[in-house]
Amino acid sequence: MPGKKIQPRWGQTPWTIHFQPKSPVRKLPRVADFVVIGGGFTGLAAAAWLRHFSPEQSVVVLEAVRVGAGASGRTGGMALAETAAGNQPGLGDVLAGLRHTLRTFEINCDLDLRGAWEIAREDHARSAGSPISWQDSGTLRVVNQVDGGTLDPGKLVSGLAQAANRAGAQILQNHRVRGIQWRANPEVELAGPSGRTKIITAGNIIFATNALSLRNSGLQQGMHPRLTLAVLTAPVAEKLLEEIGLAARKPFYTVDFPYLWGRVRKDRSIVWGAGLVHSPDSNDLDAVNVADPEPSRIFAQLEQRVRHLHPALAQVKFTHRWGGPILFRDSWKPVFDWHPRSAGRKNVIVAGAYAGHGVALSSYLGKWAAEILTGGARSLPKWGQLDE
Ligand SMILES: Cc1cc2nc3c(=O)[nH]c(=O)nc-3n(C[C@H](O)[C@H](O)[C@H](O)COP(=O)(O)OP(=O)(O)OC[C@H]3O[C@@H](n4cnc5c(N)ncnc54)[C@H](O)[C@@H]3O)c2cc1C
Repeated sequence: MPGKKIQPRWGQTPWTIHFQPKSPVRKLPRVADFVVIGGGFTGLAAAAWLRHFSPEQSVVVLEAVRVGAGASGRTGGMALAETAAGNQPGLGDVLAGLRHTLRTFEINCDLDLRGAWEIAREDHARSAGSPISWQDSGTLRVVNQVDGGTLDPGKLVSGLAQAANRAGAQILQNHRVRGIQWRANPEVELAGPSGRTKIITAGNIIFATNALSLRNSGLQQGMHPRLTLAVLTAPVAEKLLEEIGLAARKPFYTVDFPYLWGRVRKDRSIVWGAGLVHSPDSNDLDAVNVADPEPSRIFAQLEQRVRHLHPALAQVKFTHRWGGPILFRDSWKPVFDWHPRSAGRKNVIVAGAYAGHGVALSSYLGKWAAEILTGGARSLPKWGQLDE
């Protein structure tokens, strides 16, 4: 299967996504029991679980570009427990949920849950014995270890897409949803590759578009879509990893500002992330090009920051620059709720706004949404409500 490089407008990621739909769809279905909008971790996991729970019912995934074209194919790849706002009542064990999904669908994405480091500039007893000591507006040191680790985002997108497809979900790439006619069974208006408008009448819908298409998903009030930026170094020597304190291969993120996160990949290249770009004229991140002067300046600044963290990094070379869409909510809690236009009918769920905490949580909530819509015993949690 050919590997797909994704969306040059947001830069080139270092991994590829391998997915070719099993049997290309010649004719769009007019009706589907479940329409999933968005082919990232949330949507693909939801689609695989919908078919798993309810194999007799039809599932169609509508993806505007290609699977993984949003945050999921461009993420940092740090798998973290909980939400960006911490643990929430009834949330459960997010990392165990991710492992369960991987086991059920036989997905290998190099998941390695050896823990993650919180780093900060405080001169505090908590940082005694820190393997990291970096200069970055003060001295950055490890202050805490939390549950979590890393995975290969390209393999997780590919694995979920293949699993959903194998289970019988139809995945339609290059099919952008333009709008919804809000009826008892909502009508999904979409544009296929030919550009002509088509309609699918849906029994249920899962909106998994996260930081994109906010007008349709209803994620507008108190939401802040941003393109977040990352860079990759060329592979470094093991000795260099030891010198800078990353030989343990634990991913890290700052708990103070300026923000910085990163992780070591299997080939000893290092991903570093920091910097947010917003769309100057609108909330539409599709309009942002990472080659524009503002993102280019932030990339250059990030690379300089990394080179100044530690003398061993002074000559490090960078091979990739990319960005991806991320959605911040004022409360930092994810959204996991009925779509406001469907509240009475309870047949449209919206999940997203994970901030930088969505790798494990997105597929976890995708499964939860599938359980609810197939009549499982679960319900939507209060903390996910749009007005929380
Ligand atoms: C650079 C970066 C680094 C990150 N690092 C981490 C990290 O280390 N750890 C962590 O936990 N989280 C991280 N995150 C966040 C995490 O990646 C996301 O929360 C998660 O991938 C969201 O998945 P999703 O499926 O909800 O959304 P997405 O992956 O964004 O998927 C949405 C999909 O919807 C499609 N779409 C949009 N509009 C339409 C439409 N109208 N019709 C059809 N399809 C549409 C898009 O093309 C896209 O494929 C990072 C994010 C970025 C961008």
